[in-house]
Amino acid sequence: MKKIITIVGARPQFIKAATLSRQFLLLGIEELIIHTGQHFDANMSDVFFEEMEIPKPAYQLDIHGLTHGAMTGRMLEGIEAILLKEKPDGVLVYGDTNSTLAGALAASKLHIPLIHVEAGLRSYNMKMPEEINRILTDRISNILFCPTETAVNNLKREGFENMSIQIIKNGDVMQDAAIYYAAKAELKSNILSKINLPKFVLGTIHRQENTDSPENLKNIVKGLNDINRQTPVVVPIHPRTRNILAQQNIVPEFKLIDPVGYFDMIMLLKSCELVITDSGGVQKEAFFFGKHCITLREQTEWVELVEKGFNILVGSDSGKLKTAFDFFKTKTSDFSIDLYGKGQAAERAAQIIFNLN
Ligand code: UDP
Repeated sequence: MKKIITIVGARPQFIKAATLSRQFLLLGIEELIIHTGQHFDANMSDVFFEEMEIPKPAYQLDIHGLTHGAMTGRMLEGIEAILLKEKPDGVLVYGDTNSTLAGALAASKLHIPLIHVEAGLRSYNMKMPEEINRILTDRISNILFCPTETAVNNLKREGFENMSIQIIKNGDVMQDAAIYYAAKAELKSNILSKINLPKFVLGTIHRQENTDSPENLKNIVKGLNDINRQTPVVVPIHPRTRNILAQQNIVPEFKLIDPVGYFDMIMLLKSCELVITDSGGVQKEAFFFGKHCITLREQTEWVELVEKGFNILVGSDSGKLKTAFDFFKTKTSDFSIDLYGKGQAAERAAQIIFNLN
């Protein structure tokens, strides 16, 4: 039986990993999950394992709250010890966090085939820790599963075609998750009755470039306050952002709620008027659920959403945010275009992993 070690640590990785884990079970691939501990609160971690029926992690490293270097270093050490003991046939990493990079380094130095899901994405902003993590992980992987044509082209531009790395466009596993869990969310979530708002805008803020700059954060809150006077804004707030708002004495006028589970998030996405976010995943989910998105960043990895007019980038400029909000109020779009596959990305990836030599 093939044995794969999956490394996760942060919220978006639990959601992505859920889709592959299900396929591994169907194919009879043994999967052991290492949870690095990057996100550890019940509502940032446990809820996803429970709702999405992700197998319980075989290893919990409990590493969090450190600087980037210390965190990555300790993860690398912890993961290496497990890989030496477990001797898997492959290591699977997702996205662009410190857990991704630590897992990638540990596997590649031990010459264990390394598989990167959500490969090839670029913001071309080297100040983002995520950009560093994804570039390095792509370069030392053996198989790169790319969600989009743009991702494949980014890799080609960087010369990946001339390297002995398999590049496969399989679609986006987050699209798989959105399709598979939407029906369950309808049955299980009661978030809409809890917030009890006939119309609302859904927001999320957690990107370091926004949270770690008091000026950016103040501008974003100002912009959201303005919008909130017209349409209520609901923000499930990331714990780090909540702490920084308190430290900086920034008091939003809009509704802050604790981070929600994936089922609640789906229902909020389905029911909102518009999404305002600096999240990578939430930009796509807005599209999956037929909503326009305003992105609180200067660049995005999901350029196709901007090119096709579903998404507008406004950085932290409150004026641009308001202009984009007014623009989208009257715009209608056809969201049926296929940008991220039809929900079979995980199935395709698992089949290829099953056939690994
Ligand atoms: N998410 C969630 N609850 C929340 C906020 C986000 O379930 O309160 C989900 C969201 O639907 C998406 C993922 O978390 O699937 C995105 O994670 P995040 O924004 O933390 O990371 P990024 O995508 O920016 O890497």
